[in-house]
Amino acid sequence: MKFDIMTLFPDMVRTVLDASIIGRAQKSGCIEVACHNIRDHACNKHNNVDDTPFGGGMGMLMAAPPICRCYDAIVENAPADERRRCVYLSPKGRAFTQEVAKEYASLDRLILLCGHYEGIDQRAIEEIVDEELSVGDYVLTGGELPACLVVDAVSRLIDGVLPASIAYEEESIAGGLLEYPQYTRPVEFRGRTVPPVLLSGHHENIRQWREEQALALTRERRPDLYEAYIAAHPPKVKKPRRKKKPKAEGEE
Ligand code: SAM
Repeated sequence: MKFDIMTLFPDMVRTVLDASIIGRAQKSGCIEVACHNIRDHACNKHNNVDDTPFGGGMGMLMAAPPICRCYDAIVENAPADERRRCVYLSPKGRAFTQEVAKEYASLDRLILLCGHYEGIDQRAIEEIVDEELSVGDYVLTGGELPACLVVDAVSRLIDGVLPASIAYEEESIAGGLLEYPQYTRPVEFRGRTVPPVLLSGHHENIRQWREEQALALTRERRPDLYEAYIAAHPPKVKKPRRKKKPKAEGEE
């Protein structure tokens, strides 16, 4: 899968995405990440990419022409049948969730447009953007961190990025519940010990303990997720065993 990030601050994005697992995924060819500097597509001698908003108001707006030219250069040689989407990171957008990450992971190319300052000219959105996406109900200074967040969450779902599919399917949210608590060595740390069941080697008991922990934690912290999970996985009620009819007198 290919990610194209349109930004005024490509170094900021590269610093984050060239490190650790996502950096290795790029090196191994599981994903491709290209950063495009919108300023390279400015069309005035000062390379200005922003201007004051019509009608007045605080701050500067990113102008439409350099953004649209940058987009045109990205898709110019892209295959016609490519499954792609252009997403503008914006606090006004659809909420980013694991479901959205799964949806994006099925694309061939995801183009992420990062705003900065007071945002971007509406006409650029109308011209090239398929949808606006928010990473939370708060306002950041730019779309670069949200874009990194989206690339990270989507990349983890791409084959080969993580060691095995089990690694993400059992994690918080992905399976519908928050993850159970995890422990590693040492067995005792500052008087706190690892729950004995995890040291027992009894796989079924461990599985049951983890399930109970995940259910209890989700119920406490995210009742919305808990209700949805229970609705989709109603607890199995054991059928009561039918009592044997008492034998009548003389019956064999
Ligand atoms: N004036 C804009 C508004 O009220 O909607 C906010 C602009 S914000 C200061 C600058 C840029 O940061 C936005 O264009 C967007 O790309 C990014 N941004 C800020 N908060 C975000 C969020 N919660 N999710 C996604 N992107 C965000």
